[in-house]
Amino acid sequence: MKPILFNLTDGELEQFIVELGQPKFRAKQIREWLNRGAPDFLSMKNIPETLRTQLQETAQTLPVRIIKKLESSDGETTKFLLELDDGEQIESVLMRTTYGNSVCVSSQAGCAMGCKFCASTLLGLKRNLSANEIYSQILVAQWELRSDKFKDRPIKPNGDANNGDVSHIVVMGTGEPLQNTENVIGFIERANSDMGIGWRRITVSTCGIVPGIDRLIEWGRPINLAISLHAPTDELRCQIMPINNRYKLAEVLDAAWRFTDLHNRQLMIEYILLGKKDENGETILYNATPDHAEKLSELLRGKNCMVNLIPWNAVDERDFASLSGNAVHRFQDILIKNGVHTRIRRERGTDIGSACGQLRLNNAKK
Ligand code: SF4
Repeated sequence: MKPILFNLTDGELEQFIVELGQPKFRAKQIREWLNRGAPDFLSMKNIPETLRTQLQETAQTLPVRIIKKLESSDGETTKFLLELDDGEQIESVLMRTTYGNSVCVSSQAGCAMGCKFCASTLLGLKRNLSANEIYSQILVAQWELRSDKFKDRPIKPNGDANNGDVSHIVVMGTGEPLQNTENVIGFIERANSDMGIGWRRITVSTCGIVPGIDRLIEWGRPINLAISLHAPTDELRCQIMPINNRYKLAEVLDAAWRFTDLHNRQLMIEYILLGKKDENGETILYNATPDHAEKLSELLRGKNCMVNLIPWNAVDERDFASLSGNAVHRFQDILIKNGVHTRIRRERGTDIGSACGQLRLNNAKK
């Protein structure tokens, strides 16, 4: 396997370069390119061409390599299928929004959690990602944002996000971040210190691993926490999220409120709205009946939280159905009537397979 220069310490990189018969200062130049996310050595313009070619043949820049890049028709969403050094594949998504540039990163190759509506878990868990492998997903997005392609269409963020740079991170791609907690923490610390991304612009989403939430509390950084809830009762949640057999709703929410109370943050609640086909082929509500909306309201009423309602993106292998916009709005109306803050997540990049894990799964089928 080719050495991955991004993974080397400064001293190791210097030694590597000196052993190639090059002056030490080249190591510093190469490090700058690596920290900008250079996908290959040929793009390192201030390095002599002979060295660039030599490095291209003998080494690798980042621990991830783009094997597919899909852009939505509106140009606002770019999805990357990335390959790791051992051939495993992961996905990350760059979303250009009015508030900044957000990157959704994967924390594991595959997922062991087995949620019944999700494509990411269909092939099981392959392995945890290292902090560098997670961080490199941000670098890939940053390189893309600084490419010529975006020069003529800058966005105007409302806040103080740097125009053109990654400003927000959500750890919500493939994998359960709190099954890989220490590497996720290492990644976030680095994104904050090296890229200047504020704690409050970083969100970790969990299906409800209580010891992991406790670890985030102990860690003490005021990031955002999102809970993938998807059902308002233990009975229903156990049917679609096996983790609920281990950590019940009340226990998960208790840990989440402890986290948000500590940091005075709003808890994000993720709720995918699912339908099912009945024997006549008609779509019926699965976790989205008025009764479910009332029960969800009971859990959340008076709490500092925001419910993100997510229309389900169809996954062929999964036995659910997408709901109409009306059904989604009826569910939302009940939450609003009960005083629960809620919004419907805008569907992004549906034309490029935006359901988590879909691109990786489709590629594995080939
Ligand atoms: S929804 Fe998240 S935790 Fe559940 S299987 Fe998919 S990736 Fe894993």
